[in-house]
Amino acid sequence: MEELLKQLLELPGACGQEQAVISFIKDRLNSIADEICVNGLGDLIVTKKGAFDGPVLAVSAHADEVGFIIKKIEKNGLLRFEKLGGHDDRILLSQKVFVWGENGALPGVIGTISAHMQKFDNTSVIRHYRELYIDIGAADAEEAAALGVRTGDQVTWDTPYTKAGKNRAFGHAFDDRCGCALLISAFENTDFSKVHGTLVGIFSTQEEVGLRGAHAAADTVHADVALAVDTTAVSDTPEAMMDNTLALGKGAGIKVMDGSLLAAKSVWRFMQKLAEDNSIPYQMEIFTGIGTDAGALHMAAGGVPSGVISVPSRYAHSSIEMIDLGDFKACADLLEAFLYGMKEKEQFGFLL
Ligand SMILES: [Zn+2]
Repeated sequence: MEELLKQLLELPGACGQEQAVISFIKDRLNSIADEICVNGLGDLIVTKKGAFDGPVLAVSAHADEVGFIIKKIEKNGLLRFEKLGGHDDRILLSQKVFVWGENGALPGVIGTISAHMQKFDNTSVIRHYRELYIDIGAADAEEAAALGVRTGDQVTWDTPYTKAGKNRAFGHAFDDRCGCALLISAFENTDFSKVHGTLVGIFSTQEEVGLRGAHAAADTVHADVALAVDTTAVSDTPEAMMDNTLALGKGAGIKVMDGSLLAAKSVWRFMQKLAEDNSIPYQMEIFTGIGTDAGALHMAAGGVPSGVISVPSRYAHSSIEMIDLGDFKACADLLEAFLYGMKEKEQFGFLL
């Protein structure tokens, strides 16, 4: 699954321009799926029936990543940009990026002043992203255009997958290619002759700009129960606001609450029991600073009991996220246990 994750991380997929990711997954799951289609917003919806009657489980993983879009090519060849998704302006400076122009990926860097210039600057001011620019090494606008840059081109981080420590890795777009890899693996590795019910996978678009793909898909999948599989921000580093309720290396996150969702108690209790019965390391998650596709799915069609399996991540939405591959495996095990453990839709009812 690590190899699959690496392949997914190399594909560009800023919000609204997820074509490479969606195509890759569609090709990969084509022969396994009972039904597979791409809806009007680009969501890839993959259906696989189990051998026995049971609930329709919708599982969403978003194909998009936080990124940027080229807004203007300046006369001097520098590129102005707009943000796609939640970024912290304080950490954009001097980061490496790829600009995905007409002829493929162009390496670039978000420019900053030299340290030699610092004494002439007001260092208490954080540069707003609209003051920033991407430098692709073009001498002027004509050269930038000749390289293939156009207004509207997507920009992604250029931070390759790197193993670190005993079993950790850093890179970009773990949010949410981790979820995509977990969901692809669920289709590929589950023995559906043992499954009660149906798995409907939603590889959603535009999550990072407001769960837009999931909203578009939600009413069409007729789910009895729904999950998002996504990363979440841990709180295990020494900054003052960290409360140490979620940590890297402590297992799969089972969401109880975030800013978009109060998870169904029937769903998170079920997952907690599955984790305990199968010796899967887990941690309960209550963190209001984040939202996932489950925020859209749970309000579809009269309401769908929903929960989230979270891959713990440090430095989310920066150019470098870090995950623990043991946590990643725990999430895969929990999703698999869910598929084998569900029996009937009544088990996720509100009054149980
Ligand atoms: Zn995400």
